[in-house]
Amino acid sequence: MRRKTRQVRVGNVLIGGDAPIAVQSMTTTYTRDVEATVAQILRLEEAGCEIVRVAVPEMEDALAISEIKRCIHIPLVADIHYNPALALEAIRQGIDKVRINPGNLLNGRKSLEEIVKAAKERGIAMRIGVNSGSIDALDKAAQMQRIQVRLRDDGVLERTDPAEARRREREYLVERMVGRALEYIGWCEELDYHDIVVSLKSSSVLTAIAAYRLFSQKSDYPLHLGITEAGTLVSGSVKSGVGLGILLAEGIGDTIRVSLSAEPEEEIPVAYEILRALELRNRGVTFVSCPSCGRVEIDVIQVANEVEKRLTKVQTPIHVAVMGCVVNGPGESRDADVGLAGGKGKGVIFRKGQVVKTVPEDQFLDAVLKEVASLLPPHEAKLVYPEGGIQEVVGTHRTRDEGMNLPILKH
Ligand code: SF4
Repeated sequence: MRRKTRQVRVGNVLIGGDAPIAVQSMTTTYTRDVEATVAQILRLEEAGCEIVRVAVPEMEDALAISEIKRCIHIPLVADIHYNPALALEAIRQGIDKVRINPGNLLNGRKSLEEIVKAAKERGIAMRIGVNSGSIDALDKAAQMQRIQVRLRDDGVLERTDPAEARRREREYLVERMVGRALEYIGWCEELDYHDIVVSLKSSSVLTAIAAYRLFSQKSDYPLHLGITEAGTLVSGSVKSGVGLGILLAEGIGDTIRVSLSAEPEEEIPVAYEILRALELRNRGVTFVSCPSCGRVEIDVIQVANEVEKRLTKVQTPIHVAVMGCVVNGPGESRDADVGLAGGKGKGVIFRKGQVVKTVPEDQFLDAVLKEVASLLPPHEAKLVYPEGGIQEVVGTHRTRDEGMNLPILKH
């Protein structure tokens, strides 16, 4: 059951309450480079990004905001550190939300209050972002005092169990993170400002989970979930899947960002995959494919990867299965909107639970995509299956059956 949170408006997107869990990302361009930033945001929009954040390290970046906003269609968030003047300029430029870590703002509370007043006047939201990294730095002295090695009266050196010490460190860190967030919220509430979203990020999955859990017991402000500095495509996707997945399954989280050291467009399918796996959003393709094994009758890895690649831009909810043999193939394919169940040298195509036809191996991709396209609105169907079909052989590779070559199709 989803935790009940206040609802906050960010441009035309609602966060919290009963609003769908929104998917966010952040650009990697220099924000002052309006052309590159807009181009990247448009690619993110196409991938399904619903809110986008830009870094605002200098005034030139803040001054580019109104022009960027004119060219894009999703709410824009300014990421501000240290200098409150950048937040005030971003607000003047028409930003939809500012992301602040009050802990690193010059003149702390005084600056936050100035920003809050400006945000309130314009009716825009603010994310209070507390990161475990900045808490670490603030509280280093206090952490040092946590005794891990102790000389007993009888002269024996007693060491704290490292696992227990880590657990206590984490507990302490999480209390400090949540305490800070609540303190900052208190400053905003004193000014009667409540359009707040909170994040409590950490590069440690367990710390982030503990922090979000604790906060959600104490406050009903909506939560932006993220594992910060999560890593590259594989490590970052797994860490985000585990961290965000556990929290979302517990009903915690109102908007998510999957952070990857990759092109930001690559974050979006991962985010939707997490949400689809938990049945929280059904946008796009739910894809089922078998891992293949010694029973495989077709080159399922090749076909599955080709099909998935062709469907990345689809936003209509649709369930597609590509299966390697008759063991689980017909069952999974029948349950899907479109399915392929491999057999010796051929495959059975299913559509909405019914067998449509049997095709030879060199027509698998064509047949699956054609059926998928027939279930999509025209603008998406065109992306999946252009006029004239998709058959173009660019090479061959071997299937299990000796001597049999399967064409690789260009896309
Ligand atoms: Fe193996 Fe067939 Fe299962 Fe695929 S569907 S993993 S080929 S048994």
